Amino acid sequence: MGEVIVITSGKGGVGKTTTTANIGTALAAIGKSVVLVDGDTGLRNLDILMGLENRVVYNLVDVIEEKCSLKQALIKDKRHERLFLLPTAQTKNKNDVQPKKMLNLINKLKDEFDYVLIDSPAGIEQGFENSVIAADSALVVVNPEMTSIRDADRVIGMLKGMGVKDHKLIINRIDYEMVKSGDMLDVEDIVSNLGIELIGIIPSDKAITVSTNRGEPIALNENSKIGKIFKEIAMRIIGEDVSFDEYGKSDNGFVDAIKKLFAYK
Ligand code: ADP
Ligand code: MG
Repeated sequence: MGEVIVITSGKGGVGKTTTTANIGTALAAIGKSVVLVDGDTGLRNLDILMGLENRVVYNLVDVIEEKCSLKQALIKDKRHERLFLLPTAQTKNKNDVQPKKMLNLINKLKDEFDYVLIDSPAGIEQGFENSVIAADSALVVVNPEMTSIRDADRVIGMLKGMGVKDHKLIINRIDYEMVKSGDMLDVEDIVSNLGIELIGIIPSDKAITVSTNRGEPIALNENSKIGKIFKEIAMRIIGEDVSFDEYGKSDNGFVDAIKKLFAYK
């Protein structure tokens, strides 16, 4: 029996799809079987980030509507044998999927894979309920901005209301130069504001844009700065105790932020 993790946020555009593609790739690289489910019906993106858009024949809505089998709709990743994508429909809307049917579908995947990662839409639509209904835990993605944090706080409340009690925080798009100059909230502020466990800090990096445009998750390159960060998040997800000061040692801003974080703890 696998674990179902929903990747969610209050606001759109904070990096949920990027995070889903990369954590999925990193989990597969450490030997886990993983399926990435695109829960953002109508705004499907995950296939593009994985470079699999040309292989999409059937999708999640087709499975729900019994137009094809689940197996027919799953697309095997180009690089990892045990990594799969379940794309969603571009032309349907989120109300076309009933939460109960989604629950059945995800439970089937849970039987087959170690990890089911669900890329959720921003937290107010029907698609949100669909993405969360089968989740064992949630990764909440925020940007270091007040609006993002306030919306995340609301989403954490909604997750609790839906019975998802295990929440972990990913801070995406941090810029240590801006934190240093006092122009950006730092890690400590964000963690204390939201009060949930931190599992990853991802800097803003052009390499992410490049990898998105190429359809090659940056986590494929474990030796790159960002690739390493995703690998370490994956390690934490499987229960390894990876300390936050293992990487980014050459980045003083980062080390300062981490020191503060532990001072806070
Ligand atoms: P969401 O799924 O939450 O709407 P996306 O993952 O699609 O967000 O990301 C929104 C945009 O931000 C994309 O263009 C993506 O490439 C970019 N992006 C996400 N994270 C980063 C990052 N750490 N550094 C630079 N660009 C990023
Ligand atoms: Mg998205």
